[in-house]
Amino acid sequence: MTTTPVVPLPLWDLVIHLSDGRCQCTGACGNKHAAGQGRCEHENGGFISKHAGPIRLLAAPKDPADLARPPHQQAKLSACDLAAWCPPCHDNARTRAQRERRKALADLAADDSLF
Ligand SMILES: [Zn+2]
Ligand SMILES: [Zn+2]
Repeated sequence: MTTTPVVPLPLWDLVIHLSDGRCQCTGACGNKHAAGQGRCEHENGGFISKHAGPIRLLAAPKDPADLARPPHQQAKLSACDLAAWCPPCHDNARTRAQRERRKALADLAADDSLF
């Protein structure tokens, strides 16, 4: 048995098609993307810099909070819950979501200790 990717290829194709092959980040990564009128300008197959290889967009949860979920939970999402992300936006948005999640959990734990 082979390992299955988090997002099956037909779903990836659909998500990338729906996004016009362009990263759908609108600031969740912490970059306001002013140059792209609020949306990241990275396109699938485009280049971030002269030295990096072509961008391969990722199909990942549209809601950045879901990026912090484990892969088996992300795998249950359908195309309408997914968005195209370029790797830098995805990584930064996920890091931010994980930080928020940890903060929320820490706040919960702090609340518990009060009572
Ligand atoms: Zn992006
Ligand atoms: Zn971004």
